[in-house]
Parts: sequence; C-alpha cells; structure tokens
Amino acid sequence: MKIYNSISRQIEEFVPLKKGQVGMYTCGPTVYMFAHIGHGRKYVYDDVLRRLLTADGFKVTHVQNITDVGHLVSDADEGEDKLEKGARLANKTVWEVAQMFTDSFFADMDKLNILRPDISCKATDHIPAQIKLVQKLVDKGFAYDTPEAVYFDVAKFPRYDHLFGQNLQDKLVAARSDVVTGSYKKNPVDFALWFKRIGKFADHSMHWDSPWGDGFPGWHIECSAMSMEYLGETFDIHTGGEDHLSIHHPNEIAQAEAATGKPLARYWVHHGFLMVDGAKMSKSLGNVYRVTDVMDKGFSSLALRYFFLTAHYKTPQNFTWSAVAAAQSAYDKVVSFVRGAQTSAVTRISLSKEKLKKIDEYRDRFWTVLNNDMNVPQGLAVMWEMLKSNIPDRDKLDLLLDFDQVLGLDLVNISEIAVPDEVKQLAAERERLRKSGEFVKADEVRMQVEKMGYTINDTAHGPTFTKK
Ligand code: AMP
Ligand code: ZN
Repeated sequence: MKIYNSISRQIEEFVPLKKGQVGMYTCGPTVYMFAHIGHGRKYVYDDVLRRLLTADGFKVTHVQNITDVGHLVSDADEGEDKLEKGARLANKTVWEVAQMFTDSFFADMDKLNILRPDISCKATDHIPAQIKLVQKLVDKGFAYDTPEAVYFDVAKFPRYDHLFGQNLQDKLVAARSDVVTGSYKKNPVDFALWFKRIGKFADHSMHWDSPWGDGFPGWHIECSAMSMEYLGETFDIHTGGEDHLSIHHPNEIAQAEAATGKPLARYWVHHGFLMVDGAKMSKSLGNVYRVTDVMDKGFSSLALRYFFLTAHYKTPQNFTWSAVAAAQSAYDKVVSFVRGAQTSAVTRISLSKEKLKKIDEYRDRFWTVLNNDMNVPQGLAVMWEMLKSNIPDRDKLDLLLDFDQVLGLDLVNISEIAVPDEVKQLAAERERLRKSGEFVKADEVRMQVEKMGYTINDTAHGPTFTKK
C-alpha cells in the first residue's frame, strides 16, 4: 500500500515496523458536545484505512483517544477548557458531559458502520502516564516550570521549525497577534504541558496532584502519553484532521521525541475538512449537522457514508443536500442490485475465459487504486463500471462483497436480509464442520440448505446465499 506521509510530504510505500502488524493511533473527539458530520467524514476515512490494512493482510491495533480534559477553546493555550464550557452550557458536571458525549459519539459512528477502535482511551484515565512524561521533559531540560503552567520549550527542539513544512517564523507572528495569556511563556509558541489550578483556572473542576502542584494536563500531552503507552515509543501510523498540522501534531512530536529521542509515528495521515455549502461548519451559520440530522431528512446513514467516500480523503469535501441526495440514490442502486442478485435464480454457469479475465481485472483494478493513497473515488468508479458490465450477477455480487470489505457499506448484511435465520444457522454449522475437517457432514448440511431453496456461496468473508 502507498500512502501520503505528511512528514515527508510525499506518497510512500507503507512498510510496518513489525512484519504483518500495524499500530495505528487516531486523534479522537473532544467530548464536550455532539459529534457532527465533519467528524463523521474523518472517522469514516480512518475506518477505511484500517479496513484496507486489514484486507491487505495486516493485523491492525487501532487506538483512539477520548479528550475529556485540557483541550482549550483555542488549540493554542487560549480560552477556557472545552469540557468546562460544555458542562456550563449543559448545566451538568464535566464528568456527566464527557460520558454523555462519548456515548453519543460512538452511537453516531456506529450508524456510519465505523468499526470501534481496539482500544478507546480517556485522557482522565491516564493522568499518571502524562505526569511521568512531563517529568521526563522537565528532567531533560525541554520543559520549564512557571507560576501558571509547565511549558514545553520549543527553542530546545529545533526540528519543530520544519515539521509538516510549517515555518516557525509565521507561527510566531500568528501567536503574537493572538491575545496571549501565557505571560510566563519564554516564547509565544511554547505550549502548556501542565496547567496549574490558579488564575483563570482556579475553579477548574477536573484536577490532580502533581510535582508542580494541583492542576490538569494540557491537551497535546495526552496523545503522546497514551499512544506510546499502547503502541510503543515508535509506532506505524498516526492520523488526524488537517487542522492538527499546525499545532497539535507538531506539539505531539516535539514532546514525545524530546523525551525518547525516537520518532513517534512513521506515517502521518491527515484528512481534509468537511465544509457545508462551501463554508466552514459553525454554530453561528446554523450549518452544524449531526448524522441524525441527516437521517431526520430521510437519508440513510450508510448513504451518508457513501457520500463521504465520493471525495478523496485528503481534499476538502463540500456537503450539500443535493450531493447527499445523489449519494442516497447511488447507494440505493447498489442495495437493490445486491437484493436482486441475491434472490434471482442464478445458477453457476461455466464462464468464458474472457469473462473470468474481466472479473480478475476488476478485482485487481479496485485494489490497485485503493492501495494507491486510498483512492476510494476511483475505486467507486471501478465498482460502477463492473456493475454495468456483462459479467454474471452472481460474480458481480462476489466482487461487490469483496470491495465492501473496505467500503464498509454493510452489503453483507443487506445481502442476507431475505435469507431465513434457519438457513443462516445451517450455513454457520456447515462452516464450523468444514473448519474442523468434517467435510462429509458439511456437505450434508449444504444439501439440506439446497433443499430449502438456497445455494451457499463461499467467499473470502464467509458464506453468501443465492435463492435457487
Ligand atoms: P475535535 O472533536 O474537535 O477534537 O476533533 C476530532 C477530530 O475531528 C480531529 O481530528 C479534527 O481534525 C476532526 N474534525 C473536526 N471538524 C472536522 C471537519 N469539519 N471535517 C473533518 N474533520 C474534522
Ligand atoms: Zn491527538
């Protein structure tokens, strides 16, 4: 697989650290309000990446954090903590707000058929690991203590200037034009590792004891501490939205690499933003939609997933109601093909060499474009060309289910809708018998299923059914 690496700023061949295994860390949501469809787009593409790596034969460990403390209203150290703000608006405690929006985040992501991470870790459950990392940075001279916070000393980490192609000079100008409250910072781009519970944070409700007094961690340190805890000091892939290119990810790299002397992640993958009607999503424009808002307008959440797949992950995507309507109609066509191919009386006929070649070509073309920097829009073009071709429906269905391993449109379940539970149970029993080498018994079960009017098709992802 080839993927664009934001660190080298080029498309590179993906080679994992350990053969056959991939450690992947994804910056998760800040749980102070409902997730919106911009989050949906971002996590759908993390899901596609994870599914693609799995389809390519890697064993993926996917870690995703939950930010429930320390993320201030501005990604730099400005404003109040987003969780405190969320609690104030909802008239609940910060802990209640964090739980409520974590639950609703996963409920929304489930609707988009996004696989849950193998490890979901909360910042507040990992305070000792963050304190340990800050201590290491203080001990090594990369951080300094002040009356308001412990800050990372960017000047001590010269590589910071070039990370992701950013220019420190531009950043300094931007930081100076902000209302900088960190009056003890040596340099405006220094960032907080540990905030003290004083001044504007005197009433901060989440706080812990530390070598620098009562307080709470800065946002960036949680990702460095938790990614290294679960995936090791150097791991394979780190993902995030393109907004993280300028602050959060350079800061993560600076902290982790200053502490360990090793690269944190080897491939950095960044997603383009979702816009709405050509504008940034914002409360004041009234264009912040949730997945459920889209569903309330009569669209299915998997059609929304299909919509996200129509744009390349790196480019910005514009959400319009007409674009989601077009995605719904495309998705409906795929579903009705699956149902039709499923129930139509298709018997296995021997295919001409030419058709067999065509089937292989479609499969190869699909996986080639997917493995070339996750080009899903081109993959969808191959899918439509295949569906319009003259190969038999049954082979189209097999190809479609093969492609859906990475598209994640849940076509396997759709394809089984018309199949009675008893048939599915017998197929599962046959699968078990086959796996334990009891082929004669397995064949008896297959014949029993045939008598009930269904043919079992063995595919790479388990049995599918055709009505006889
Ligand atoms: P947050 O909840 O703001 O911490 O964001 C969680 C993740 O969603 C981050 O990786 C952001 O870059 C990403 N994200 C936030 N808004 C959008 C958007 N409109 N489009 C795409 N990704 C987004
Ligand atoms: Zn992060």
